[in-house]
Amino acid sequence: MDVIVIGGGIAGVATAYQLRAAGHRVCVVERHATVAQGATYGHSGIVLPTPLDVWFGPTFLRDGRHGAGGVICRTGFGGPARAFVKRLRTLHGSEAFAARYAQLRPLIEAAESALGDAENRFQLEYEQRKGLLYLVRSTGEWALTQPALELLRRFEVPHYALSAAECVAFEHNIPADPPFAGGVHFDSGRVANCPLFVKQLKQLLDNNGGVQFQTGREVSAIRLESGRAAVELAPRLPEDARTRDVEVISGDAVVVAAGAQTPRLVAPFGVKLPLYPLRVHTLNAPVAHEECVPHTTIVDTARRVAVTRMNHRLRISGGGVLLRARQADEPLTEALTEQAQALLGEASRDWAPGAARISAALAWEGMKLLSADGLPAVGNAGHPRLFVNAGHGPAGWALALGSAQLIAQQITGIKPDLPDDTVAALRPDRG
Ligand SMILES: Cc1cc2nc3c(=O)[nH]c(=O)nc-3n(C[C@H](O)[C@H](O)[C@H](O)COP(=O)(O)OP(=O)(O)OC[C@H]3O[C@@H](n4cnc5c(N)ncnc54)[C@H](O)[C@@H]3O)c2cc1C
Repeated sequence: MDVIVIGGGIAGVATAYQLRAAGHRVCVVERHATVAQGATYGHSGIVLPTPLDVWFGPTFLRDGRHGAGGVICRTGFGGPARAFVKRLRTLHGSEAFAARYAQLRPLIEAAESALGDAENRFQLEYEQRKGLLYLVRSTGEWALTQPALELLRRFEVPHYALSAAECVAFEHNIPADPPFAGGVHFDSGRVANCPLFVKQLKQLLDNNGGVQFQTGREVSAIRLESGRAAVELAPRLPEDARTRDVEVISGDAVVVAAGAQTPRLVAPFGVKLPLYPLRVHTLNAPVAHEECVPHTTIVDTARRVAVTRMNHRLRISGGGVLLRARQADEPLTEALTEQAQALLGEASRDWAPGAARISAALAWEGMKLLSADGLPAVGNAGHPRLFVNAGHGPAGWALALGSAQLIAQQITGIKPDLPDDTVAALRPDRG
């Protein structure tokens, strides 16, 4: 089949990779001049999510006022943003959390296996580094972290629960004072450079790999008919709108992997994705004192801020801001941006003092989509020729390869490897 993929982030390029592996011809349309320029660019590098990383559960959005639960909430008292938060709160209980994670787990395993396969086949090197240390500030947060630890045991994810003293003994650059509750170490957990991986995958697919990349082109609309699918391209220049016919690319199916733009593109087909946008921030700061840089990636567990070394810089990412629906697409106010960046600066100073020159940091902000029920939106939606791969929240890095595999199997018409209840739970039109 001929398949058009909209979006050249990790989700779109992973989809192209899996579709090609299944024998389809693929065209990826990306509005930027190159791939990995959206949320994929700002990632913090954690390759596969553990129960401590998912965007639901006991610690997530617990207290939005000061970002203590990972997100600064300005939802107002009603409307879709408030409904979204309420729905996520239903997953605060440990049983609901465990049930939801159990549905996500097969996707994580599929993604892990697909990533391992790609690495082995193509000998990819994309700055992978082993080791992740999640730190927990207070005894209250430690208590809230226990259901996640229980899931780590249940799914036999190798990890070590450490006291504060053990954390400091393991990573000397973490200050023992002020006291903190403890941490969780994953020695096989990995961070890597996601945009580099996406670019390498593109190169493989581009060079005789049979995938065509149309970069610098924006899809303005999708057309679906019973026998064909197509996308309309926006004119390259405004004056072309008057002088040229609409350019169209035709195929047999369309996969929308357009990140935050996905809901808008599928809305004309009556598909209302269960996703809500969240602004997230990154500070890329030069290393201040080499001897103070942690040897492993540090994650402030409850605040969901990651401090990762990337060459001569430290990348500090997190600082989510949730706004009312009508403000979601508007630029953030200066005050909110400062508040979000302050969360990042604070995490860096608390856990890696002296490591980063925050005053010289380059700031980046992007949008990611979260679902209220904690799972991405993946699969067929609204029309037999329309598919979605989006809404991976803070965990799209390698999950996208597993989601892409599901879509490739659905387009090929074979039974998905994932269990039926996971496939049903991921449906983009689940409401
Ligand atoms: C600060 C931050 C930290 C993160 N940390 C991690 C992490 O540690 N681990 C992890 O797994 N995940 C992490 N994530 C999440 C992860 O980065 C995302 O889940 C993932 O990158 C989403 O990829 P995507 O391809 O769906 O979206 P995007 O990367 O946003 O890609 C969508 C692409 O579609 C293109 N597009 C949109 N509309 C159109 C159109 N009409 N026509 C053509 N092209 C279009 C865009 O230009 C864009 O390139 C993080 C995200 C952020 C922002």
